[in-house]
Amino acid sequence: MSLKHIVLATGNKGKVAEFSTLFEGFSIKVSPQSEFNVDEVPETGTTFVENAIIKARHAAKVTGLPAIADDSGLAVDALGGQPGIYSARYAGADASDSDNIDKLLAALTEEDNNRKARFLCVLVFMQHELDPTPIICQGEWHGEISKTRHGDGGFGYDPVFWVPEQNCSAAELSKDVKNSISHRGKALAELMERMKDLIVL
Ligand code: IMP
Repeated sequence: MSLKHIVLATGNKGKVAEFSTLFEGFSIKVSPQSEFNVDEVPETGTTFVENAIIKARHAAKVTGLPAIADDSGLAVDALGGQPGIYSARYAGADASDSDNIDKLLAALTEEDNNRKARFLCVLVFMQHELDPTPIICQGEWHGEISKTRHGDGGFGYDPVFWVPEQNCSAAELSKDVKNSISHRGKALAELMERMKDLIVL
């Protein structure tokens, strides 16, 4: 297969920039779905995998191009894996990152000693809308939920995601360090490895 152009099923500029850089070396253009007026599709799945496939299939269908989509979230052990696929809307449909953190800190009481959590990321590549064998890659990042916020970098739950190996929160890491150890970074590295077989230079 000769890949020249891929649509990215996200509106997140940071993600588009990251993917564009990775694919530059392969002379593959990566365009956000907004360039093709692809509307947002409801994430009706019950798993990260289903939601990523729904997004990739929709972008491939509308554009006629191969598509990449991702879905990610935070799973907290003491909360039975919540907020999981509902991470972005944990405190409601229009919740801000800060609202979601407030709800999380309230759900985990001061006495909760088990504060283990992990970020999860699933990346899906579909060659076309009806691709029966999408490439599915998964990354995990283990940490703990701190009792208060630390740092103001990153996004989402980063200020309360404590990374013991780095002795700081995810919001206190540089972008490069975060990308090299995060759930998304790991899934992305696996995707690049597996896509090499598909790419004919
Ligand atoms: P999405 O994959 O961009 O839809 O992200 C889902 C939600 O999971 C985000 O809105 C965040 O709340 C959370 N999340 C996913 N990855 C991260 C991360 O690297 N740091 C902090 N929060 C994250």
